[in-house]
Parts: sequence; structure tokens; C-alpha cells
Amino acid sequence: TSRCTHSSFQYANLVVERNTKKQRLPSDPDKLGFGRYFSNHMIDIDWDVKEGWFPPKIRPFQNFSIHPAAKALHYAQQIFEGLKAYYGVDGKIRVFRPELNMERMRRTARRATLPDFNTREALLLIDELIRVDADMVPKTDQASLYIRPMMFATDQNLGIGESSQVKWACFTAITGSYFNYDRGIRLLADPEMVRSWKGGVGQYKMGCNYAPTIFVGKMAAMHGCDQAMWLSGEDRLVTEAGAMNLFMLWTNEENELELITPPTDSGLLLPGITRQTVLELAREWDLMKVSETNFTMSQLVRAVREKRVHEFFVSGTAANVGPVSEILYCDKEREIMEKLHIPTMSSNMQFHKRLHSTLSDIHYGRIEKKEWQRIV
Ligand code: PMP
Repeated sequence: TSRCTHSSFQYANLVVERNTKKQRLPSDPDKLGFGRYFSNHMIDIDWDVKEGWFPPKIRPFQNFSIHPAAKALHYAQQIFEGLKAYYGVDGKIRVFRPELNMERMRRTARRATLPDFNTREALLLIDELIRVDADMVPKTDQASLYIRPMMFATDQNLGIGESSQVKWACFTAITGSYFNYDRGIRLLADPEMVRSWKGGVGQYKMGCNYAPTIFVGKMAAMHGCDQAMWLSGEDRLVTEAGAMNLFMLWTNEENELELITPPTDSGLLLPGITRQTVLELAREWDLMKVSETNFTMSQLVRAVREKRVHEFFVSGTAANVGPVSEILYCDKEREIMEKLHIPTMSSNMQFHKRLHSTLSDIHYGRIEKKEWQRIV
């Protein structure tokens, strides 16, 4: 039979149905935006509790047909990932550290009570999807192919319980740059708007973490800011910004030059693949102390006042590394809105720029770093 009950879907069972329609893309990379143009194929795999994983399919990009009671639609039993493929200077297509995304997805699946799968099999399927749509990977270092794996509960009853049916899917979208970095990013820090808390699910990439942030993003925009900066707990730990991790290059309270980012063991933030890469590069370069340590909003405010903050930047797959120039702090206890100017754009070191260009060199194959570059 065509069924399989393995503990994972298997690349060896892949069935490919080609799309005969081709779409046109804008030739100007500035017009691509983020996630607006989708490529021609997608991966689609079903799972059910009795049969396990069915053979994976690559089929023409198309709508899902989904039961109105599916738990994904009601109880947000759904998860996703985000990674990118880049067209290299040598004509090879490279995916950046995708095994880390698949491992993060499996951790998220476990917490969302969705089935496990094999990292290697998923990577082989994603390679194949990219090869099938290889002509959609933009041939410029100003754009890339964004890859969106996802898994969601599709079963046909309203009970809040383990889903007996699940879908695993993956599609790709052509993407230009997410931000314009000519001016730095502005962040709104409002301690009343909390993204994550101890015992919550902030460290997982599940949709329920993102829906509530859209409203806060709108509030940030109303204040002339680009993103929210997320604070957590009574002591207002600085955790993340928008859907990105963050870093500060400062002279710390011991008068040492330090690159600091909050730790992941608190469970308050997503362990970003870009974050991990920035830490690894910074430790390799050894230009400063590198710490995964919490810092609070009051430490940040004091350091800005004492001119000890040199650079502040965000990191993520969509954003690469992006400079922050201003943090608008709503301190409701003191009933003030305080504008913290961060001199990232004019710092002498321009450490964020060095990170940005090194990452970009690795993405587009200008620098070889084999263990981070999966050639498809
Ligand atoms: N934090 C959140 C909440 C995110 O959604 C993302 C994007 N996945 C990140 C941080 C950055 O993670 P990565 O570097 O893996 O893209």
C-alpha cells in the first residue's frame, strides 16, 4: 500500500506532481517585499494517529481544504518555522543552517502535542522543494527565498485534546529586504504589553505567540516606532524586539566592553538561529566579552544616560542584523514617555555592520563556512 507508519515521513516515498503554470515576478528586487510572491510548489504531508505519516507530496502551490472544526483554527494548535535559501555568487543555492530550524520545529511540535519527524528527512524534502522551484530563487544578493515549514491540527472535532489528524506543509516565498536600514529601527518599550512569561511558551515558534503581538505592533506604529521591544516580569527584563532577538554592545557596570544578549534558558524568548550565529561569530572574533545574561530596563536606561551603550541591534532571519537608533519607553509608574537615543548608527566600531556583512557573505557564498551552508 502507499501508507507508511514510520515514526517520520520519508523522503524515499516522495511523490512529485509538477505545476505546469509559471508565474511572473517583478524584476526590481525592491518591489518584492516580504512574503508576497509565492513559488510554484509546496510540500504537503498528512499524518493520522492510526496510520502515522503518509507519503510526502510535492504538488502545485494551492489552497488547503480544511474542516471548520480543525483545532488549528480554534485552539491555535499550529506551529511554523522560517529560514532562507540564497542564490550564491557561484550559482549554487545555499540554505542557512536548516537543521537548527528543523530541530527547533521538533521541540515546538512536542510542546504543541503535534507528531515528531526526522530532521534529515525534512531537510531532504526541503532541498527537493527548492530544486523544483530553483528558478524562483532571486539571482541577487538583495533578495532570497523564504522557506515556511508549518504543521497544524486538522481533525474533525471540537474537543480540546490531542488531534488525531495533522498536516505538515512547506511553501516558499520570494523576499526582498524586510527593513530599510538607512535610519535605525525605533522600538516601543511598554511594560504593560507582555509577550512571554515564566512557564509560558515564548521559546517556541507557535502561532499563539504572534497573534497578540499584531495589536502591539500597531500601537508601536502609532507612536512612530517600527516594532515593540518586549519586557518581561516585575524587573522588566529586556527580552526581544518584534519577532527578533536583540543585542547590546555596551560598557558594562564593571567597565568592560561587552556584547550582551538575554539567555534562552529563561524560556522567555525564541532561541534564534541568527542569534546563535552572532554569538558564535563574536566569540570567534574575540574583540570583546560576549555574554548571555539578562539585563533590565533600568540598567539600560542608566547605561544610555551614562553614554555606555554603543550599539543596540536586532537579529533574525528576515532582518539579518538591524541597527536600533531609538527606544521609546513608556514608564507608567513615573507617568512619562522617555525617548532613549541609541548611537548605533554613529558608533565608531560599527560592529553590527561587520556582523551584517559577514552573515550576508556566508549566505551568498562569498565566504565559505561549509557547516552553515547547505547546498541544495
Ligand atoms: N524571536 C522571535 C519571536 C521570532 O519569531 C524570530 C524569528 N524566527 C526570532 C526571534 C529570530 O529567530 P531566527 O534568527 O531563527 O530567525
